[in-house]
Amino acid sequence: MLNVGALREGYVLDHIKAGKAMTIYHDLKLDKLDCTVAIIKNARSNKMGKKDIIKVECPIENLDLDILGFIDHNITVNIIKDGKIVAKQELKLPKQVVNVIKCKNPRCITSIEQGLDQIFVLADEEKEVYRCKYCDEKYTGKRNK
Ligand SMILES: [Zn+2]
Repeated sequence: MLNVGALREGYVLDHIKAGKAMTIYHDLKLDKLDCTVAIIKNARSNKMGKKDIIKVECPIENLDLDILGFIDHNITVNIIKDGKIVAKQELKLPKQVVNVIKCKNPRCITSIEQGLDQIFVLADEEKEVYRCKYCDEKYTGKRNK
């Protein structure tokens, strides 16, 4: 059983790949939130050997599940109310991600016109392929692998 400590209301991101907690902290912009955040690194895990955990004392509505699903959909989201886990949120690969990754095609309109949203669309769910909405360029950068 996960020890949620003093967390009364918020969420716990469990089964984060060891060493990735800080990346996720920044990608979710938790540094911008006025919430209590606890990062646990290298916790022992039966399933993964080692894992990271992030505890956030903040309403779940403030969490961008699409970004989290894009980074790593194997992360478990536990929703905490009154100090207990009341629900687990399944993560899925989002159909599209906005302003998370950038298109690398120099001829893409997003490279030419500043201020356009960077939109990537899930093109192949099986292979986890994302393509730029404007120029169809495949995203080949790292997610959380
Ligand atoms: Zn593009």
